[in-house]
Amino acid sequence: DNDQKVLSILIGRFLWEIQRIELYKHVETLALTDGLTGVAVRRHLLERFEREVDRSKRFGFKLSFLMIDIDHFKDFNDHYGHLVGDAVLKQVAETIRLNIRELDLVGRYGGEEFGVLLIETDASTAFFIAQRIRQAVDERVFRAYGENLKVTISVGCSTYSQGLNSVSLIVDSADSALYQAKRQGRNKVCAAELLDESENF
Ligand code: GH3
Ligand code: MG
Ligand code: MG
Repeated sequence: DNDQKVLSILIGRFLWEIQRIELYKHVETLALTDGLTGVAVRRHLLERFEREVDRSKRFGFKLSFLMIDIDHFKDFNDHYGHLVGDAVLKQVAETIRLNIRELDLVGRYGGEEFGVLLIETDASTAFFIAQRIRQAVDERVFRAYGENLKVTISVGCSTYSQGLNSVSLIVDSADSALYQAKRQGRNKVCAAELLDESENF
């Protein structure tokens, strides 16, 4: 009889612990995830980025980063309204996620900007993936509030190297490449290391 009482107390305690762990996991997920788009928040993306740069330094792993920005999104919002803009933003995030691996990480970097960490990925593969994402967005008809909508994105690619060996250096160079893609007319991909060699990507 006594044993049974002890057992039921232990089981109760065990179940309570499980609930506590599940609640903790839920709160953690909420803290790491952007409420609108469901991708990682900027802080989470940058923390993972730091860890991956460390791994690249120690073990020589390849690592690439994409900076993605929706083209003329201010005009889009002005024309269709912020709610439609939000719905499209969410679907652009989904399109990005569908074109990367589980292992990679996409995060919302700013308002209508996304950062993508491509693990174990060299510059030419990163460029290929960036083109695939750009094309997927270009070809997709977004649906929101009964409207059929089109948007495009521009992408800047950058890859870890001896010269680009910190998060801020890699982000800055992806940013410059993105700026170049915008200057070349948008709906384009530009890679940092290819900037000097060619203006035609
Ligand atoms: P560009 O092609 O040069 O990127 O032009 P742009 O208009 O996209 O760039 P700009 O940085 O001038 O404007 C970004 C706009 O994105 C401003 C704002 O209207 C819109 N935006 C930013 N965050 C959100 C958001 O959370 N929801 C919606 N609906 N719009 C957003
Ligand atoms: Mg922007
Ligand atoms: Mg923009």
